[in-house]
Amino acid sequence: MQKIKRSCKKKREISKKSKQIVALLLTGTLFTNLMITTSLAATTTQPTTTNQKEVNLKDPSPAYYWGASSPKNYPANNFTLHFSASSSFDQGDYFLSTYANDNVKTSIDGQPIEAKNENSTERYATSILENIQEGDHLIENDYTKLTGNDASVFSIIAPFSSWVAYYYNNTTFTGSPLSRQMFTPTTENLILRAQNGTDSPVPGVINKTNYGVKYITYARLAKGKYKLSYKSGEGIKVYIDGKQVVAKWTDGKKAKTDILIDIADQNIGNQSNTNQGTANQSTTNTSTTNQNTTNQNTANQTQQDIHKIEVRTYNRKSPQDLFFTFVPYVKTTSAMIKTIVLDPGHGGKDTGAIGVGKIREKDIVLDVGKRTEALFKDFTPFKVFLTRSTDVFIPLEQRPVFAINKKADAFVSIHANSGSTSASGIETYYYGVKTSQSFSLSPNFTGSSLPGGKNLGVKNSSGLSNNSSLLSSKKNPYVSDSLLLGQLIQFRLTAALGLQDRGVKSQSLAVIRENNLPAVLTELGFVTNKQDAEMLASPYWKQKAAEAIYMGILDFLETQGIDTECYKLYN
Ligand SMILES: [Zn+2]
Repeated sequence: MQKIKRSCKKKREISKKSKQIVALLLTGTLFTNLMITTSLAATTTQPTTTNQKEVNLKDPSPAYYWGASSPKNYPANNFTLHFSASSSFDQGDYFLSTYANDNVKTSIDGQPIEAKNENSTERYATSILENIQEGDHLIENDYTKLTGNDASVFSIIAPFSSWVAYYYNNTTFTGSPLSRQMFTPTTENLILRAQNGTDSPVPGVINKTNYGVKYITYARLAKGKYKLSYKSGEGIKVYIDGKQVVAKWTDGKKAKTDILIDIADQNIGNQSNTNQGTANQSTTNTSTTNQNTTNQNTANQTQQDIHKIEVRTYNRKSPQDLFFTFVPYVKTTSAMIKTIVLDPGHGGKDTGAIGVGKIREKDIVLDVGKRTEALFKDFTPFKVFLTRSTDVFIPLEQRPVFAINKKADAFVSIHANSGSTSASGIETYYYGVKTSQSFSLSPNFTGSSLPGGKNLGVKNSSGLSNNSSLLSSKKNPYVSDSLLLGQLIQFRLTAALGLQDRGVKSQSLAVIRENNLPAVLTELGFVTNKQDAEMLASPYWKQKAAEAIYMGILDFLETQGIDTECYKLYN
């Protein structure tokens, strides 16, 4: 029997090359919310033409729920809609996902797509569209409403590994979905997260509680072992290729759970595209879909690694907290289990800087620290420790001692800056060269209030990489590694938050100087600047900052020979 060595690094070469460009383009969002289209249902028993909603027939991805009404200027029953629009595609594999009451037919460049019902009791249908060519394609949807009091049409052609989500205002998936969204991940890892807390996932349409969501995706998965991880606010079910692999359909929080799944090759294409060939042969193929349909006419060899994943969740009582990943399983050895210490600055009687709107540094950095900790706990096998996880005062000297005692591989102290109202942006400190100043371990210091802080031009790092000879034996000797850690975190933070890059600077700060491992102190932004302060007060941006710190630490561990691709949130 042949054993295939598996690794997270599989098929990553292209994304690696474009990593820097991609990272710069990122706005920090894990998912791009491409589409929300909905309307509220009138819950009458007979179809009516009151409360009609407009319909846009130039929408390539219609998503309408009219319920017991109909589109504006259409009768309640027995009407048809022809949606026709050109849509731009990148080259790649896609899947069609439809739901209609009563009927929808989708075509691409004039060729009908034969979508198969997912099962006999639901109106969902899907089809695989392999290797769509780059460029514009004509997408048409023909919707037919017969009779009955529930009019809806949803149709979208989504890239592989993106999630199409359907929302119900009940937890039993009764009736039609009211809304649809698509989430496009920015990494090859299959990641699904919904963190709306106690808010609605689709405000104005979907309830804040008592709603259900069905997420589906298709992906190419090389055969082998995969690690499925999930946690959820409440009920969760997972199906792979129609087979249920997670069934926790009960109220109450589900702690993070990992399970191993064997993925074997299959012939999924025969099930979903058997009729495709007929349509292709009878029409004049356009150059763009020719290749796609040719593949489907053959023995579907290219489809054997295509798999469908469906996740269903509901929220009845608890806040939403859905976390789901499906990544190649890599056996972790003890040498791969790295230890991270996160150090939210200040705390307790030491508020740190107080800024616009009286926001306090100690609160911001604790929140970001805990969010960063949660990412390590959710996504990685690494050990992660916070120097403080509550609003308590911790003397400065205890913070590096804590990291040293934990035998940590990286130490990141998290702070927010203060200064003039015009000062803005992100900066990160490492302990690099001996400076003339020496700093006390006074607990009242803030990074920004310390003197010195020369920008040593580390972006052009020649000659700065190792100055350990300048250091006394007691000072942190991990100069080049600390600099690298700082650069990688700074890069991720500035890309994610879009704030000014104030650079990576050498500074003699106690928590990084009195340390004995790669250690940095990062200043997330200025609480004294209106724009920075607004971001630092926002849960959304605090999450983006946490993700950036997390990603920067992963980037650093990668330079230490640890394969971290499986844990990445984006490229
Ligand atoms: Zn501070």
